[in-house]
Amino acid sequence: MRVAWTADGGTWRLEFRLDPEDGVTGHCADGAALKLATNTFRVELPRAPRDIHPDLLALTAWTVVAPWTRRRVTFDRPISPGLAGAIGDGWGIEAGPTDSTGNAGTTGTTGTAGPTGPTGTRSRSGSRLAISYSGGADSVAVAAMLPDAPFVHFQRVSHPRVPNRWTHYRSDVLASLAEKTGRELTVVRSDLEFTLAEPRPGYPEHHAVAAGALLMADELDLGGLAFGYELGSRWLGGARYIHRYTPDNLMWAPHGAWGRAFAAVGLHIVLPVGGVSEAVTMRLALGSGLRGQLRWCLRGVGGPCGTCGKCLYKELIQAAVERRPLRTTITAGRPVARKWQQPPPYGGQEMIEYGCARVPGIEDTVFAAAARHLRATEASTAWLDRCYPPAVAEIPEPWRKQVHDFVTGEIGFMSEEEARRVETWGMT
Ligand SMILES: [Zn+2]
Repeated sequence: MRVAWTADGGTWRLEFRLDPEDGVTGHCADGAALKLATNTFRVELPRAPRDIHPDLLALTAWTVVAPWTRRRVTFDRPISPGLAGAIGDGWGIEAGPTDSTGNAGTTGTTGTAGPTGPTGTRSRSGSRLAISYSGGADSVAVAAMLPDAPFVHFQRVSHPRVPNRWTHYRSDVLASLAEKTGRELTVVRSDLEFTLAEPRPGYPEHHAVAAGALLMADELDLGGLAFGYELGSRWLGGARYIHRYTPDNLMWAPHGAWGRAFAAVGLHIVLPVGGVSEAVTMRLALGSGLRGQLRWCLRGVGGPCGTCGKCLYKELIQAAVERRPLRTTITAGRPVARKWQQPPPYGGQEMIEYGCARVPGIEDTVFAAAARHLRATEASTAWLDRCYPPAVAEIPEPWRKQVHDFVTGEIGFMSEEEARRVETWGMT
């Protein structure tokens, strides 16, 4: 894989070319099979940054091209040995070029690392923590935990070479809601999701959502990026593919491949809600000052659409948190409700158990069959109301105390017995 960036003001455009051993069908870190649609994308920053460290450009590219890279990745400017090592260890991919002179700052590369001036391929660092903010319940919960952290919002825009068959995806609505929060906000627009043809446009790796934060990291002096990935994504194997306790999660563990790659470029992955369930993030989001801007549905304009699978799933959680009957017009025969008529396992199963145990009249809803299969109770799901302690312990030191104090005051930690529910998840 060969990648090359060109810049025009604040717009950065990447072109990548496959090596003979690369393939147009690849796999991302969560196991999904991905088919390539096109070999270019752009990232529009709100202003032209002074300079961007070569490691930040390289890792941004890597979040897109990793699934289709088989043996080596060649960047258009030298990267630090630290980043090359992280890609080598994490993926078994040879990454380069690196600065062969070992004489950082004299190689003629364009990188700088903030106030210290030109550094060539020396590792970068920064000090502030930003939030990768989508506007959904999980990222609103993160915002409630970190009231002073700036937001970086990724907005999908159309790709000049790929027809947009996904016009129902209202990224403009989500961006305008982010603007209404009143928080320090950087909106970054990109068509990088259209590099992905199948199963649909989306982030080739989940981390591609960080493209804007990576490219603006020097400009904003970022040392960490907080994501809204919660207990299910970080520790219970993710919603879709694994469904068991995964302390060594490749995507989100600090010692996983992606965690090490982000650390190598001085932008640490931080998961403030990594130890709590979607019931807790929902409760925090509904109680937050940003409740009016809360939106998990990608389709609605005036409000959530109420008919998509995401709306149905989140309605179950919200109804459980609010201790009220389900409000939905979706019936069991509808395609978005079909999976709940089948026996488990389900994606996000811990939250289906939580909802079925708490929503009054669940036996008369589209979740009736799931509830019969799961037979969950309030007692059997009580662990999902508290925080898994190792999730706070793994937060990088500069931001750990703030999260710890919030969890202590607003959520509470799991007992050892409750933590064992996490650690035996998916085992019979
Ligand atoms: Zn919806």
